[in-house]
Amino acid sequence: MADLNEIIDDTIRAFEEMRRAGVTRVEVSRETLEELGKPPRTIRLESEAPAGPSPEVARREPRPPMVAETATTTTADDLAAIEARAKVCVKCGELSRCRHSVVFGVGSHRAEIMFVGEAPGHDEDMQGVPFVGRAGDLLTKIIAAMGFKREDVYIANVLKCRPPQNRTPLPDEVANCLPYLLSQIELIEPKVIVGLGATAVRSLLDVQLGITKMRGHWYTFRDIPIMPTFHPAYLLRNPPAKKEVWEDMKAVLEKLGREVPKGR
Ligand code: URA
Repeated sequence: MADLNEIIDDTIRAFEEMRRAGVTRVEVSRETLEELGKPPRTIRLESEAPAGPSPEVARREPRPPMVAETATTTTADDLAAIEARAKVCVKCGELSRCRHSVVFGVGSHRAEIMFVGEAPGHDEDMQGVPFVGRAGDLLTKIIAAMGFKREDVYIANVLKCRPPQNRTPLPDEVANCLPYLLSQIELIEPKVIVGLGATAVRSLLDVQLGITKMRGHWYTFRDIPIMPTFHPAYLLRNPPAKKEVWEDMKAVLEKLGREVPKGR
C-alpha cells in the first residue's frame, strides 16, 4: 500500500517544480476533481501504520533535506516549500486532528541565532506563530536583552503541532517532526543554536542528561554550537533561574563575537 506521506510529498514536489518552471495553470479533468472530493477509502494514516523510526534512528540516519536547494531557489523559497509540506502533514494522527495551526517557525532566514523550543502551546496553536504566549513574551525579552529583535533571530520548535493539554511530545512525534527542524537548520545555517529545555536539546543531541546538567555547556550539532538553557516556561515558574539563562546568553553573544549590550 502506498504511504500517504510519500504521496503528499511527491505531489507537492511535482507542483513546486511546475511553479519553478513557470507553470501558472493546470488542467484537471472532471473525473479527477470528483475523485479528490470523495472521502478516502484505502488510505491508511500513519497513526494506524506500524510505528516509525525512533528518535535515535532519526538522529543517526538523518533524512535528506525535504527540498533540494537549487541555484535558482532562495532559502526563503525553500523554507516556504517545506512549510507548505508541514502544513499538510498528517504523520501524527492525533496532533494533526487536534491542531488549529501548524506552527512552522518565524524570523530571519539569515539568522545567526536559532532558538529551538519544544512544541506550540495554546496561544501558538491559535496564532500559528511560535512563542507568543507568556513564555514567548519572556523569550522576546531575553532576545531584546541580547541586543536583537525577534525578526533578527529564527524561532522554531521540535514539534510543529500542539500536543493535547501541552503534554510532552512522544518519541514517535519527535521522530515524525524532526526532519522539518533539520531542514530549517540546514537552510538557515545559524551560527549558534539555543536549545530551550531538555526536549529541544535531547531531540537534537544524543544526550539524555537533565537540562540543569546540560545548560551552560557547549555541545555541537552538525558542526553548529548549541547552548542548552532553561525553557522560558520554567523561568515563569522559577524566576531566580533567569540569572543562569542570562549567563548562557552571554556565552552565546561571546561565541558570536558580540558585545553584551550596555547596562546588562
Ligand atoms: N513553548 C514552546 O516550547 N514553544 C512555543 O512555541 C511556546 C511555548
